[in-house]
Amino acid sequence: MPWLDALTAKALDRERPTRQEALAVLASSDDELLDVVAAAFQVRRRFFGRRVKLNYLVNVKSGLCPEDCFYCSQRLGSGADVLKYSWLKPDEVLSAAQAGVAAGAKRVCLVASGRGPADRDVTRVSEMIGTFKAEHPDVEVCACLGLLRQDQAERLREAGADAYNHNLNTAEAHYGDICTTHDFADRVDTVQQAAAAGLSPCSGLIAGMGETDADLVDAAFALRDLDPDSVPVNFLIPFEGTPLAGEWTLTPQRCLRILAMVRFVCPDAEVRLAGGRELHLRSLQPLALHIANSIFLGDYLTSEGQAGQQDLEMIADAGFTVEGAAEPTLPEHRRDLIKVRRRGAGTELPANT
Ligand code: SF4
Repeated sequence: MPWLDALTAKALDRERPTRQEALAVLASSDDELLDVVAAAFQVRRRFFGRRVKLNYLVNVKSGLCPEDCFYCSQRLGSGADVLKYSWLKPDEVLSAAQAGVAAGAKRVCLVASGRGPADRDVTRVSEMIGTFKAEHPDVEVCACLGLLRQDQAERLREAGADAYNHNLNTAEAHYGDICTTHDFADRVDTVQQAAAAGLSPCSGLIAGMGETDADLVDAAFALRDLDPDSVPVNFLIPFEGTPLAGEWTLTPQRCLRILAMVRFVCPDAEVRLAGGRELHLRSLQPLALHIANSIFLGDYLTSEGQAGQQDLEMIADAGFTVEGAAEPTLPEHRRDLIKVRRRGAGTELPANT
């Protein structure tokens, strides 16, 4: 397909594609889809090899948010059945993060609900970061606390934070349809403040919120303009009790096209499979690993992901390597299974398979 070859060549050279090229990825047919995935894989492999970076979320404050983001189970007046609690203590954060670190997470994301932190909240999170970094100096910490001033960003950087996440979520033209309490420009400003303070910018989108293909492409180009180091791609989980509860428009194929479009627009950014991957990609998750080079391990903020062990198996089965691991990570019970098969010991499987 000449259009795909041209787009791939541009991405390998980090060149900006045209809007038409990005739109063509979203409009590709089911017959073209595997070619699109293979082309995106060439780009992924150029910049990230076959490595998969693992990230782990810790929700350090949950629910009770005064903002009205329509997609969010923690929004003002949300009827969604999610945990609500105020700030965790530093040692609680450390113990919550252990499971992710033990499974190989190279980044822990400390996420708090709310419009943005008060100065005393920055102090709290700085203490969390200090406690965590004292135990795990090699694991990156990303803070995600909402709208941020530059002096607050600087304090987080001084406390040892490596990155800051604030998603653009959708196109500027669509933003008023998903939130009325802050706007797109506020979000852009926060990403810029974080980057100016020396924090690695992480900013992505949520697909499936009633946006058009043009909105998705606009959001991806807006992200490219911000030059984030990592781009999480979320697929809407339409929580009951939120205004987007009935919004079921995504298919696994559509998710692959969206991921591929983001990969072509932001070729050398860490593209991360984020919320909703299990729900919407389903059995096509391993194909998505050929486009994205990073995943959240296990659970998300207010929803359960698939077990971390299953994620590690999926990565190994698809022939990828966990970033930072000496060799492809195969969970212990799978090694046991292989030994059983090699010994020709029949079909008896370990109890936990
Ligand atoms: S996305 Fe963040 S700011 Fe918006 S309602 Fe949810 S917790 Fe609040």
